[in-house]
Formats: sequence, structure tokens, C-alpha cells
Amino acid sequence: MSYTVNRERFGLAQQKEQKKDAQSELREKRKVVRNIANRLKKVFPERAETERKISFTDTLIAIILSQNTNDRNSHKAYQLLRVNWPNWEEVVEADPADISEAIRVSGLADQKRVAIQGTLRAFQEKWGTVEPEELEEISDDELLEFLTSIKGVGLKSASCAMMFALDRDLCAVDTHLNRILNRVGVISASSPDKTFRDLRPLIPEGRARELHVNLIYFGREICKARLPHCFECPIFDLCQWGEKEEYAAAKKQGPKAVSGDFLITDGI
Ligand code: SF4
Repeated sequence: MSYTVNRERFGLAQQKEQKKDAQSELREKRKVVRNIANRLKKVFPERAETERKISFTDTLIAIILSQNTNDRNSHKAYQLLRVNWPNWEEVVEADPADISEAIRVSGLADQKRVAIQGTLRAFQEKWGTVEPEELEEISDDELLEFLTSIKGVGLKSASCAMMFALDRDLCAVDTHLNRILNRVGVISASSPDKTFRDLRPLIPEGRARELHVNLIYFGREICKARLPHCFECPIFDLCQWGEKEEYAAAKKQGPKAVSGDFLITDGI
């Protein structure tokens, strides 16, 4: 048998082995994500059960306004928009400076105005209306691609609106979910968008929105940014974060055992 044939066989065997490793890693990660979803569901029962109340267009615009601000300011901006221009068609035609002025309270007014008017125009061009009804028939990937092609509409806003207004089986990823999933170690990604893509194949079918909502509550109440409550974490054994033991012990010893500034920043 020639040296070349042996090398080819060795190469093929190596490729087969790598494929097997990748498949078993995927299976393992799926198991971890399923476990996380199951345990969080027990901790936060029924929080993910929401009813669809407003249209897709309303939802997406509300989400655009909510970027980088708090609920109070984004809600105020949304109300001002609706009071001044009761129909979305009027927003398309309105003077850009007036729109920016009306939503200024939500911050990044010019950027948000571009995204809002751009979204409404894109809907009109594609479907002939600012309130399209054909969205149910479009696949997740196709709709995500279209929405994220609109200036100012990112993957997080698009997937969030699809999740809440169209009941799509998606788990939108913001900075909080990105932090948690990378801490736990089930994802190793540099940005929320990459986390969203890497997480998608790991989520059990039909449970993406539930996972999103429960991870949001988990991040607010337990796996906080500055002072994670590892001492009461329901997924402690699944988490690979190198500092979890230290934070779990901090509870027993009192907050000062970790660092002086945590008492000030707790709750972020
Ligand atoms: S152990 Fe700590 S860091 Fe890990 S998921 Fe739980 S709260 Fe977050």
C-alpha cells in the first residue's frame, strides 16, 4: 500500500473522528440547554405565558423606541408618536424633525426616527401597507433577513418583535442573555447576534420564547451582572463560570468578602 493512500485514509479517519466529536458536543450542549429551560420553568412558572395584544408593526416600533432607555421613557415616546400621528401612514409622511422631537425623551431620537420611518416605508414597498398581514406565511429566516436589512433594525429587535407579536419560536438575545449564556459556558460568542445564532439549534422545539422570558427574569433576579446570586442558583451545577464558587461563598461570609463596590452597584 502506497504512502499516499495511507495518508488519505488517515485524513479521512481524522475527519470522521472530528465530526463525531462535534456531534457529541452538540448533543451535550442541547442537554444542558434543555436542563436550563426545565429548571428555570420551575423557578419562574407561567411568566412566559403572554397574550398577543398589539400588531407586529406596533410591537416592532415600540421595541425600536425601547433601545438604550428605560420602559418609562420609551412608553412616553410611543404615546407621543401615537397621539401626534394616530396612523402609521402619517408617520411616513411626517417631517423627520417633528418625529425626532416627539420621541426625544427615549434618546437616540434621530437614529430611532430613521429606523421607524425606514421600517414603515419598507413595509409599504414590500406589502403595500404599513400593517402587513401576510407575515404569518413567511419563514423565520426570510423574515429575519428582510427586517434586519432595514437601517436601524437589528437582529435583537427583529427576533423580539417576531417572538412576541407573531409567536415565532425564537429566543431573542440581548446583552443580559448574552452575558448569562457565556458565563454558563453553553455558548462562547463575542456578541449577542452570534449568541442568537449559536443558541438556535440548541433550544428544544417550541420552547424558545419561554427560555427568553425566563432567562430575562433569571438575569434580573439571580444571575445579575455585578453580583450574581450563585448561592441560590438553580443551575449552579450546570454553570462553568470560574468565579461561581467565590460568589456562592460570598453569601455565607457577607457581601464585603467579595468587593467593596458591590453594595453600591447591586441591582443593576
Ligand atoms: S452559578 Fe452564578 S454565574 Fe453561574 S449561572 Fe448561576 S448565578 Fe450565574
